[in-house]
Amino acid sequence: MAGVSEIVVGGSVLALAEGDITRFTADAIVNAANSRLAGGGGVDGAIHRAGGPSIMAELDRIRAEIGSCPTGDAVVTAAGDLPARWVIHAVGPVYRDGKQGEPELLAACYRRALELAAAHSARSISFPAISAGIYGYPVAEAARIAVSTVASGLRQGESSVERATFVLFGREVFDIFAAALDRQGRPSADG
Ligand code: ADP
Repeated sequence: MAGVSEIVVGGSVLALAEGDITRFTADAIVNAANSRLAGGGGVDGAIHRAGGPSIMAELDRIRAEIGSCPTGDAVVTAAGDLPARWVIHAVGPVYRDGKQGEPELLAACYRRALELAAAHSARSISFPAISAGIYGYPVAEAARIAVSTVASGLRQGESSVERATFVLFGREVFDIFAAALDRQGRPSADG
């Protein structure tokens, strides 16, 4: 197997797994949602299918209250039938050319998801590769931002999160995240 699949950061584990995030047990599962919180294709569709209608019913109530969720932010619902307690619906940016604030917005939604996990005292959290599918973010760059942002969140040490796992769909995306995690794990890596 190429690359490392977990490192220790700030006393917590940052890990990679390959597979379907809806089958992966964690206190909190992060969804790559859209700002309308309306469900969609990709991992969002898979989460709603596997979690059942109670998740959308809760999002309907949230939408009635706040309208939409800004890009870079996230909202929390219960997890329905998923092997989790919460779903953190994080809204990543649509990638245009990388000069429209996409890196900051992608980092912001990972940070926000970690904050919300800590607010719910989650000890484990799983993330998909937010924005790296339909939203078109180049995977290597999305992986670098994802890994460095979650690592720095864990390093801050105030979080309840003991284990954060990127659950990647397909070998190709897994290998790209493994390379990013490998760089992050080296003593000279910053961020
Ligand atoms: P976005 O709209 O934010 O780009 P997508 O769902 O289209 O979100 O894709 C994000 C990533 O999630 C892609 O790498 C895609 O292959 C992956 N993905 C799709 N379905 C699943 C799943 N069931 N579990 C984990 N990852 C998934």
